[in-house]
Amino acid sequence: MDSTTATAELGWTISPSQGWEEVSGYDENMNTIRTYQVCNVFDSSQNNWVRTNYIRRRGAQRIHVQMKFSVRDCSSIPNVPGSCKETFNLYYYESDSDTATKTSPSWMENPWVKVDTIAADESFSRVDLGGRIMKINSEVRSFGPVSRNGFYLAFQDYGACMSLIAVRVFYRKCPRVIQNGAVFPETLAGAESTSLVAARGVCVPNGEEVDVPIKLYCNGDGEWMVPIGRCMCKAGHEGVCQTCVSGFFKAAQGDHSCLQCPINSRTTNEGATNCVCRNGYYRTDSDPPQMPCTTVPSAPQNVISIVNETSLRLEWTPPQEGGGREDVVYNIICKSCGSGRGGCTRCGDNVQFVPRQLGLTENRVHISDLLAHTQYTFEIQAVNGVSDQSPYSPQYTSVNITTNQAAPSSVSIIHQVSRSTTSITLSWSQPDQPNGVILDYELQYYEKWNSSLTRSQTNTAVIRGLKPGTIYVFQVRARTVAGFGRFSGKMYFQTMTEGRDHIRCLSLLIVTGIVFIIAITVFIILFAVSSFLSVEVSPGMKIYIDPFTYEDPNEAVREFAKEIDISCVKIEQVIGAGEFGEVCSGNLRQPGKREILVAIKTLKAGYTERQRRDFLSEASIMGQFDHPNIIHLEGVVTKSSPVMIITEFMENGSLDSFLRQNDGQFTVIQLVGMLRGIAAGIKYLCDMNYVHRDLAARNILVNSNLVCKVSDFGLSRFLEEDTSDPTYTSGGKIPIRWTAPEAIQYRKFTSSSDCWSYGIVMWEVMSYGERPYWDMSNQDVINAIEQDYRLPPPMDCPSALHQLMLDCWQKDRNNRPKFSQIVGTLDKMIRNPSTLKAMTPLSSSTPDFSSFSTVDEWLDAIKMGQYKENFTNEGFTSFDVVSQMTMEDILRVGVTLAGHQKKILNSIQSMRAQMNQITSVEV
Ligand code: AMP
Repeated sequence: MDSTTATAELGWTISPSQGWEEVSGYDENMNTIRTYQVCNVFDSSQNNWVRTNYIRRRGAQRIHVQMKFSVRDCSSIPNVPGSCKETFNLYYYESDSDTATKTSPSWMENPWVKVDTIAADESFSRVDLGGRIMKINSEVRSFGPVSRNGFYLAFQDYGACMSLIAVRVFYRKCPRVIQNGAVFPETLAGAESTSLVAARGVCVPNGEEVDVPIKLYCNGDGEWMVPIGRCMCKAGHEGVCQTCVSGFFKAAQGDHSCLQCPINSRTTNEGATNCVCRNGYYRTDSDPPQMPCTTVPSAPQNVISIVNETSLRLEWTPPQEGGGREDVVYNIICKSCGSGRGGCTRCGDNVQFVPRQLGLTENRVHISDLLAHTQYTFEIQAVNGVSDQSPYSPQYTSVNITTNQAAPSSVSIIHQVSRSTTSITLSWSQPDQPNGVILDYELQYYEKWNSSLTRSQTNTAVIRGLKPGTIYVFQVRARTVAGFGRFSGKMYFQTMTEGRDHIRCLSLLIVTGIVFIIAITVFIILFAVSSFLSVEVSPGMKIYIDPFTYEDPNEAVREFAKEIDISCVKIEQVIGAGEFGEVCSGNLRQPGKREILVAIKTLKAGYTERQRRDFLSEASIMGQFDHPNIIHLEGVVTKSSPVMIITEFMENGSLDSFLRQNDGQFTVIQLVGMLRGIAAGIKYLCDMNYVHRDLAARNILVNSNLVCKVSDFGLSRFLEEDTSDPTYTSGGKIPIRWTAPEAIQYRKFTSSSDCWSYGIVMWEVMSYGERPYWDMSNQDVINAIEQDYRLPPPMDCPSALHQLMLDCWQKDRNNRPKFSQIVGTLDKMIRNPSTLKAMTPLSSSTPDFSSFSTVDEWLDAIKMGQYKENFTNEGFTSFDVVSQMTMEDILRVGVTLAGHQKKILNSIQSMRAQMNQITSVEV
């Protein structure tokens, strides 16, 4: 209500009639207004009321009244009585309808409710009813709560001279507003000036609540305050949630604006939440939507191939076009094309790629184990994160190569060891580059047109059935899994003429001083009955002579070991610690011979005579052997100090540590090749009647061609006490874990006990140097074996090999295989690799994961502890997530070695299998 807007009389109710008076006047802007005036200051006991018309409440709870008025200053009125007032009272009366009359409600407080007594801020001295000089007061009062449909206001004058110029009645409300993404309805202020009225907001269309409840509070002044909660625009909408226009997108809910589509993408409709890639352009799941769409890379460029025998190095430069991405990697596709005719086929698994075949991040790869003399095509594919999405196969550059020789190099020299009228005994050196494990040698010989072939597993052979006094041509070549090497040059040897076959070809050693023969080295010559040249070959039939049977062991050294002049030896560096002193590597240059790499075992200063004898006994033993799988003695230095034993150098050191360093890195065929070599070496020892007693991976040495040779012929440890090395029991000096039960129990050392040890070596090899029986104590091992416990197959160990191990571990030593059988079995496996496919079920070879409480423990148990941190960093910290790992995950945690990948994957598979078992039991 606003009295100033009234155009006609206000017609308010007045009581008594001689009190208030409605008068037309002017406001300060000289607009005509309707006013009420009263000025009965000279009459006492004034009680003049004027009541407004009925005012509808309209939902308001608190009513505000603005009054403009002027009051005359009593002191300015001459002779005014003391009853003159300068204030008036404001009242209200609530009613559901306009029922007031001239007399009702009664003109008094209660029924009227007093709001306040109102005083002028400034009274004025002279009232000019014409309105010309006026000082107008303005006061606002409010009251509430009001609840009826409407109310009246009343102004009570009790003796003032005043004019009520304007009355405006209003309530306060907070307007409809959009704030924090929500619409809040118009809300009336509360009943008290301090009230806060909560209003619930509703998200604007295409907005979504992100924080509920969504509220604003309307205060007594009609102002919104204390916003709570909020809405945000859905994807594809911005601002107050208008849709993104064409060519723009907004991927997610939020306050941000729509973005222009990135390069190579477009929208298909308005309000786009993403932009689709143009044809031929793609995005990976992990590419953010604001990233341009990318495409596949072009082919790698400038491929260089360097063939080295059966290995190949490929290098290239990155593709010209990366497709707009940084994640280009390379895959190598290997196709072998046989001899050139016919189609190419994918290469088998045995070809090795370093660092790997797929997902190469560097621009080079080293490929090995290719077949010799074979044409290959290598395709170098460039792929990136979106290659999978392209309907086309990756672009590649291919290169054709032909491998060189993989077979062993040729044998350089053939010696005649002895001859008779009908036989010649030959020996030859191993090829300089065996290029693998030598399986056997083929000897070709002929006299005039009659040629013949024969095989020998060692580098000696006795050829019988020859004609007396005849010159024969001999050529020899070595064979590896890769095939034959080239024949050696022709060598001519003549059989003895009839009548001169005597003691010269019989090597008989008689040690004098004591009148008996200690030992005999005999080349037993069997005369072939057949008259033509196909003959049986007997490898050297020498018998080993224990140097300790010599009264003077120095004699044995002189007999079996060549004295080398110290000036021929150049020591390079220390490579290990032997029982008697340091082991060094160095060079040996003997007159008329090529310089060769050697290992030099030294006898430390201050030795006793006995130590010297024990040290040199190894040379006396080694010197009697000549086999490609037995460490070869070059000679000894005894005439100067320090005393040395010089042997061929084995670049890869001892087998156990070599395997541990290359865990998982070999194919089964490679491992079987190593085992075959070891078995061939032991077979030779066995044939020589030598029992090693300490076969173990630590006593096998490995050269750069992965040829394994049996070493460690020191006898001393079986003869005296030693307490420092935990591998050997104190007192007995027996390596318990490697030794057959009968040898532990009653010192029955035979080739059969060596066979048991060989089984343990097999297990060590197949488990890449794991400790046999892990952390069981020696006594536990003895008890377990007694109760028929045997080592389980190592991870990935073909059943056939484990079966062979179990054969070697037969309780009854007579049931254990002979080394000739072992070699034969392993050769068959190498020839038919399919026999190695069958695996023992995983569960028995992998640890039970439920016995570990953390992923770290599990990694330690599978010997992959080095990846613990990687697993943790990538969040693979529970068995649940680890069991779900894929090959990509394994790559992502940084396991790049194929062997380790395989090992971890296998263990995860077995973990899954075990988990399934557990859950099915629980169900
Ligand atoms: P041994 O006293 O024979 O056990 O030798 C001690 C260590 O020296 C071995 O474990 C090898 O690491 C190293 N060693 C011995 N002989 C050779 C060799 N012929 N070539 C390379 N390393 C060797």
